Amino acid sequence: MKTAIYPGTFDPITKGHLDIIERASKLFDKLIVTVAENKLKKDELFTVEERLEMIQSAIERYKNVEPSSTKELTVDYAKGLNACALIRGLRFVSDIENEFQMAWMNRHLNKDIVTVFLMPNEKYTHLNSTIIREVAKLGGNVDSFVPNLVAERLKEKFKK
Ligand code: ADP
Repeated sequence: MKTAIYPGTFDPITKGHLDIIERASKLFDKLIVTVAENKLKKDELFTVEERLEMIQSAIERYKNVEPSSTKELTVDYAKGLNACALIRGLRFVSDIENEFQMAWMNRHLNKDIVTVFLMPNEKYTHLNSTIIREVAKLGGNVDSFVPNLVAERLKEKFKK
């Protein structure tokens, strides 16, 4: 039984994240999409509970995927769940510097946990949660880039 963790901020989950989830769910027996609370940034929009609800609703159709959250160091959390891999998405060359640094440190912390990089469909390579938050805040329509519940929640959040 091979389990992988997909850690991230997911504030909120986008179709780019979902693309990576779909690919990873085919490679592993079980995939856990984990909101890493230790990474919470100052400009956060949704609470961890809100993010988990949106993740849960977006992954319902995948039988081997489940949501979770943790305040632990990612590799320690993965080890506790007997996971063998961390999933990360790569969009551009510009992602590589940061991602390699993190993967290298995680390998140093636990050499048994492998970081697996997956590439999304090209149509999602320009997508990130920050741009979604910024455009939605100004009233722009981002419905085609996020799961339905996220689109709803963004509208509620920024309703005048
Ligand atoms: P973080 O703050 O850790 O970058 P995110 O939730 O933004 O958390 O992203 C989690 C992972 O998903 C990262 O590896 C990121 O590169 C990847 N990711 C985010 N958006 C996309 C996208 N549109 N396509 C592919 N991967 C993505």
